[in-house]
Amino acid sequence: MKGRKHSRQREAILAKIRSTSCHPTADWIFRELREEFPSLSLGTVYRNLVLFKEDRSIISVGNIEGQERFDGNMLPHGHFVCQKCAALIDIDLPNGSLKLSVNAKAVQGCKIERMDFTAYGTCSVCLEKKVPQTKELKNHRRTLKCQEKQLQS
Ligand SMILES: [Zn+2]
Ligand SMILES: [Zn+2]
Repeated sequence: MKGRKHSRQREAILAKIRSTSCHPTADWIFRELREEFPSLSLGTVYRNLVLFKEDRSIISVGNIEGQERFDGNMLPHGHFVCQKCAALIDIDLPNGSLKLSVNAKAVQGCKIERMDFTAYGTCSVCLEKKVPQTKELKNHRRTLKCQEKQLQS
């Protein structure tokens, strides 16, 4: 019984990440699923995210403003990071893969398995609003962004 409940939560966490392109945080996933799974804890979300990363069901895009962001899109693509609101937007790469010239000598004896392309700047929404933003507003907007994407899909 307990096992079944846990695997249902596990499936819901993965489905939630795959349902959005906003590159959510563990916290966002937790808040989204809390209603459906009242016994779910943030710790459980974290543990499952670690497992998903290990079995390569998802990738971690890295830490943006101290919060790890996750991606269910496993096709090769780059990212744009807004340094004002922490929005993380997918970038389509030409030919669907990274073709950067790498200094072969610098990585001699190593096997490259993955390369990342991340661009940093200001997103179109933030460019329009030139007001300084508080931490609360930033968190709020980040959540809204995720929800907007959710509704669109
Ligand atoms: Zn922005
Ligand atoms: Zn992505």
